[in-house]
Amino acid sequence: MISQEIIDFIRKDIDNRNEELFKIQNDIWNHPEVNYKEYFAHDTLTGYMEKQKGWKVTKHAYGLETAFVCEFSRNPELNPAVISFNSEFDALPGIGHSCGHNLIAISGVTAATSVANAMQKFGLSGTVKLLGTPAEEFGGGKVKMVKAGAWDSIDVSIMVHPMNRKSYSYCTSNAHSINKVEFFGKTAHAAAAPWEGINALDALVITYNAMSVLRQQLKPGDIMQCNFSDAGESANIITGYSAGTFIVRASTRGRVNKLKSCLLNCVKAGSIATGCDYKIEEQTSYDELISNEIMCELYRTYMNSVFDIGIPPLDKNNILNFGASTDQGNVSYVVPAIHGIFPVDSDVSPHNPKFAESTKTKKSHKSALEAAMGMAFTGLEVMGDDKLLANIKEAWKHDLEAKKSDA
Ligand SMILES: [Zn+2]
Ligand SMILES: [Zn+2]
Repeated sequence: MISQEIIDFIRKDIDNRNEELFKIQNDIWNHPEVNYKEYFAHDTLTGYMEKQKGWKVTKHAYGLETAFVCEFSRNPELNPAVISFNSEFDALPGIGHSCGHNLIAISGVTAATSVANAMQKFGLSGTVKLLGTPAEEFGGGKVKMVKAGAWDSIDVSIMVHPMNRKSYSYCTSNAHSINKVEFFGKTAHAAAAPWEGINALDALVITYNAMSVLRQQLKPGDIMQCNFSDAGESANIITGYSAGTFIVRASTRGRVNKLKSCLLNCVKAGSIATGCDYKIEEQTSYDELISNEIMCELYRTYMNSVFDIGIPPLDKNNILNFGASTDQGNVSYVVPAIHGIFPVDSDVSPHNPKFAESTKTKKSHKSALEAAMGMAFTGLEVMGDDKLLANIKEAWKHDLEAKKSDA
């Protein structure tokens, strides 16, 4: 455990900045922005970080307009450890901050700045980074950032997410792959000369039907979803072009790859039966979240001892698999990571407009700041103990290895 003195300092430091931090997350709540259009959030968060002592702020990082990275370093030659926190900030179309990413934004900023303030106050060495990660909901911001090397020089990644009245240290998510499927046929008069056409709507329907019968043979937890986005303009025209989105989801990357090959066969069936050409384009793909048990246990211990949150110990009954997918999964494939869950006062789950109402309250803000303190304490302990960090990395390698046989 880090010392009580450091814990008390961080609590006081965050308490002193409480109103300022509340204003930032409420401003972001009042300006909901989606999928790589989070300009207000980007400018608000980096504006705050630029005012903090000793931080180097890089806006529009990794080739993404709304991504950013901030770094604070003290005697890295004495301690090469680099810990990192994430701030998400994108909203959902039409229903605002109904996933509470305004709270995730402020938790990352708070954790990172309080760690840096403690490092200055107590003369601690190491490096802390804050990554501003856009487009979690639809665009795979972290997937692009992983590819751009954002976590290459980082040892661990720490973030949290709000949920309706739930607290967890350990959670998992599904891997997924979102694919645009297109069929290219030939338009013709549907009554006068249908034999001159090649029916792309039929190809899409056959693909859908093939996928539907396949569902019976899937394993529990495998999910195949689809919609038709282009299915022809008029019933009296043979459809020359059709398109749809097909999503496959499963508990592991390996299993998702297996389902993708099944989907490809369904698409080929549609193509062969009708004579259409096809194109499949993967739009985004998230890996499942591999939570690092050692860091989860640190976070749980701090949250329970400092705030009496009562997060239950890790066992098979206390793992939250939130069914959906998160691009923090892709981060967890490149560095040891955690994705803690903190509660907001809501009867409904995220992605519901009523949940958005709960993410702007003082009570939810308090909960987000407590989670931020848990992140900060966990990060500081990892940064200050090279043996602990080595154990975390060893456990992570072991987890990754175990995934390889999981399909
Ligand atoms: Zn969401
Ligand atoms: Zn979310």
